[in-house]
Amino acid sequence: MPELPEVESIRRKLNQILSERQIRSIEVRRDKSFLAFPTTGEEILNNIVVGVKRRAKILQIVLDGKRDLLIHLKMTGQLIFMDIDGQRAGGGHPSADWVNDLPGKHTRVIFYLTDGSRLFFNDMRVFGWIRSPLKIDVDQEFVNYGPDIDDPNLTVDYLLDAAKRRQIPIKQFIMDNAVLCGVGNIYASESLFATGINPTKSTKEITKKEMTILLKAMQKIIARSTELGGTTFDGKYVGVDGFAGGFQNELKVYGRDGQPCLSCKTKISKIKQGGRGTFYCQSCQQK
Ligand SMILES: [Zn+2]
Repeated sequence: MPELPEVESIRRKLNQILSERQIRSIEVRRDKSFLAFPTTGEEILNNIVVGVKRRAKILQIVLDGKRDLLIHLKMTGQLIFMDIDGQRAGGGHPSADWVNDLPGKHTRVIFYLTDGSRLFFNDMRVFGWIRSPLKIDVDQEFVNYGPDIDDPNLTVDYLLDAAKRRQIPIKQFIMDNAVLCGVGNIYASESLFATGINPTKSTKEITKKEMTILLKAMQKIIARSTELGGTTFDGKYVGVDGFAGGFQNELKVYGRDGQPCLSCKTKISKIKQGGRGTFYCQSCQQK
């Protein structure tokens, strides 16, 4: 599943590449992938891309008309831009669609641009979606989301206050989108390891000092991963220029259960929390 660093990497690439290009037509190959098309889709034809923004893991392609495009990649979504020479850019879930001929069997939506280039939305499992709300309704899409981890206005006091009102393990707390967006499963385990905080510790027992170092660790790790293009476990498709991330080489606990801790050699543990795997070191994370 693409997490925030991967989605942000895609945003940065598409922001550069798509800006000022114009939508000529849209082909929807799977109705479920473009919700409310053709009603809203027809209205964005001939629109020009102003830029690409992101909130949580939702990409927002800002257009010069009344509507914008919102895209959620969910588990297996990909956005691949291809120019008339076949040069590709984009990213998302790693699969053979990165390198195979496009459109492929997982291509759900194609945006044809007036200069002959195309943007493919591929989605193997069809959980992802594209929508085209009116600009004035876009904020409404995010009312149930807490601030993004890279929001410069995010404070320790905000997190501490939210933590005191709950009694859940800290790992589940930092992954709760209603509190905070952008700390997915990989980065939650990695951030807690970096701070020595036990993932099962209750939010009620988290001190201000701990929350301060945890916030810094989360921001630092997510910024580092974004810089590297995110985390890609499947190394098979790295041949497509810039598609694969590099953070998988810097993981300290995630996916390392049974292997020695890089700090103390204790075997890394794996437990389940809220249905998700948590990886941690029992001896380094006793706080
Ligand atoms: Zn350790």
